Amino acid sequence: MEKTHAKIANPRQGTTIVRVAVPIPLETLFDYSVPPHSDIPPIGGRVTVPFSGRILVGICVERSPKDPHEKPKDIIESLDIRPILSKELLDLAKWMSNYYFYPLGEVLATILPAQARKGQKLEIKREEVWRIKTGYAASDRAPRQKELLKFLETKGGQATLKEIKAEGFSSSIVKALSEKQLIYIKLPEETYVKALRIRQEAKVPVMNEEQVAVLKNINQNPDGFVATLIEGVTGSGKTEIYLRMIEAVCLKGKQALVLVPEIALTPQTLSRFKKRFGPSGVVTSLHSDLSDSERLQTWLKSENGEVQIVIGTRSAILTPFKDLGLIVVDEEHDSSFKQNEGLRYSARDVAAKRAQDLGIPILFGSATPALETLNNAEKGLYDHLHLKKRVAGAKLPRVKVIDIRGLTLKAGLSNEMLKALELHLNTGNQALIFLNRRGFAPTYLCSSCGWIKTCRKCDSKMTLHRKPDVLVCHHCGCKEPVRSICERCNGQQLKSLGLGTQRTEEALSEIFPEVPLIRIDRDNVKSHLQMQKQLDRINEGTPAILVGTQMLAKGHHFPNVTLVGIVDADSGFLSSDFRAPERTAQLITQVAGRAGRAERSGDVCIQTYQPDNLSLRSLIKNGYGGFARKELGIRKKSRLPPYQAMALIRAESEKGIEASTFLSELTNTINGDLEVLGPVEAPIARIDNRYRYQLLLLATTRAKLHDHVSRIKLDISRISNGNISMRKMKIGRTLKWSIDIDPYDTF
Ligand code: ADP
Ligand code: ZN
Ligand code: ZN
Repeated sequence: MEKTHAKIANPRQGTTIVRVAVPIPLETLFDYSVPPHSDIPPIGGRVTVPFSGRILVGICVERSPKDPHEKPKDIIESLDIRPILSKELLDLAKWMSNYYFYPLGEVLATILPAQARKGQKLEIKREEVWRIKTGYAASDRAPRQKELLKFLETKGGQATLKEIKAEGFSSSIVKALSEKQLIYIKLPEETYVKALRIRQEAKVPVMNEEQVAVLKNINQNPDGFVATLIEGVTGSGKTEIYLRMIEAVCLKGKQALVLVPEIALTPQTLSRFKKRFGPSGVVTSLHSDLSDSERLQTWLKSENGEVQIVIGTRSAILTPFKDLGLIVVDEEHDSSFKQNEGLRYSARDVAAKRAQDLGIPILFGSATPALETLNNAEKGLYDHLHLKKRVAGAKLPRVKVIDIRGLTLKAGLSNEMLKALELHLNTGNQALIFLNRRGFAPTYLCSSCGWIKTCRKCDSKMTLHRKPDVLVCHHCGCKEPVRSICERCNGQQLKSLGLGTQRTEEALSEIFPEVPLIRIDRDNVKSHLQMQKQLDRINEGTPAILVGTQMLAKGHHFPNVTLVGIVDADSGFLSSDFRAPERTAQLITQVAGRAGRAERSGDVCIQTYQPDNLSLRSLIKNGYGGFARKELGIRKKSRLPPYQAMALIRAESEKGIEASTFLSELTNTINGDLEVLGPVEAPIARIDNRYRYQLLLLATTRAKLHDHVSRIKLDISRISNGNISMRKMKIGRTLKWSIDIDPYDTF
């Protein structure tokens, strides 16, 4: 971080003009002058400025040359003596603004913790820890002073002021010892030393040959930017490799950042890091369960180097560091790394950019790498290392496909699946039944006239939920009571069709009344704590059936699960989204990977109506690696990412015509070598009473795509300013639009 201290402006030198990014949806930066009595804000520091009748907190981005014709408005106040955004983060923000076509002021607002954004004072809250100086002599001290020294000794040489006071020692005794230089306030840096000592005491597994080889290969390039993909099957010990790399980085006094998909759902990961590297001062997590002030504290401590390892979800990639030495992106294929609103960034891609700019290594780890990442590895941009075996002798599970055509199913489960369940439960094991659909049933219909209950505000069906009985739209969230009369024919033959996790749970509890059922989906696990509760039940280890959605697929280690049943392999593969096969193969592989991760070997049963589906067959026959290479071939032929760069422009309005006209206007001005698909209705054409249209753009190179989108963006501002035809349209109010670079979801 630059330590540029503010200078008091010298009035004789004239006025300083600064260029400020404010959090509004406009591209432009705004010039303000610094009045002579005010501090000159540092680059990367916050200022309050007047802005069309309001006061905004902005970031001073650069000094501006003086324009003799115009004197801009004055800033109100410079809030920071030193920059709160380093040059490195500011440059990253500029890059993101450019790459994702999002105003710099709003990018910066995304990066800053809430309290910083609001202009509040930024201060690290630190508990005062008093420590004994080495080589002190307690002999000729006053009795109370001697007692305090004794107390500190019993606490391993140090205690917080709170603890000291709780023992009945007054501040004056502390002060007396401090003045005699027998005790001192501990500096935060000392945490490192402690952590490494703890690390030496912790049990560390002996790595197997594969792990040793991978680590050796990574270490061949210990300094500078190197990107490495570790493609390792589930349970192959990838995390152990991260831990070793992180340890090496910490020993050099540097920091490490670990990005994970959803930390609240995988408390195991965090506790593993904490066990290895010691208490909270060293390992800190950043996730959505934190309060604003907790988030700010981590932010500040990471910035000044007090926190050595930060583990966090998507937005943790925007944390400031004093001296970052390594980035790990675990489960790099996971869709949660991509933000789907506002600043639509991919934390994985931003991580790669950040590592490159900092000249540090980055590790991507997954059992099911994203096709983009595999392609980067194939092009030689990333090193590609493999872990093909599970650690400590655990075997990969046996996979069986169950052809359910023409079979009678019990709540969607075939006889064969039920037999397998019985067998595994009877031998004292646990089973996991995976179904990626929450609720009781996805369809509620009238069996006499065929009417289907749809959402009034969206073009989608409503899902039936039980306990309490209610119909829910999974797109807009609205709810309606369940009625037993058809809205079209007044008939009373209403029934639910299809399966959700609630129905599966209910059916299984009837078939296996003795066995505890543990359901895990977004309806009944909403927080870190609820997840931990369910995990604790699972970890008791007694026979149980776990029923759940993709929440169960993510990085969990369930040592007693030996059977994984996938109820419906088809729906994912059949979706029209071009990423659907990739996503489904990843999900199936990840869920299957929960089986037999410990000594006991595992079985996976996959039910399908389409045993000949090419994607499914290739996945089962050749594993994810083989499937992915085939799928890459298909993408190449169809000229889809990663072989072309993609942008998605979305527009929505209450009257569909506005959104579609808007996109057509943009399409008319496009010329040059760009593939343009649309404008078309979005796959879900209406959500929450807004009609949605989209325009897909594909270009052979990123540079070309960027040029085109830049021009389109200019057109959008011209339309907004009323310079082209759609004068009456009130963009931003009735019509909303967005640009999504490297979109993940195309619906
Ligand atoms: P992955 O991240 O590839 O899914 P993990 O790193 O979680 O795999 O490893 C699975 C389990 O095996 C963990 O409990 C871990 O502590 C343990 N483990 C890792 N490496 C070894 C090893 N070489 N020997 C024994 N156990 C190991
Ligand atoms: Zn009817
Ligand atoms: Zn709806």
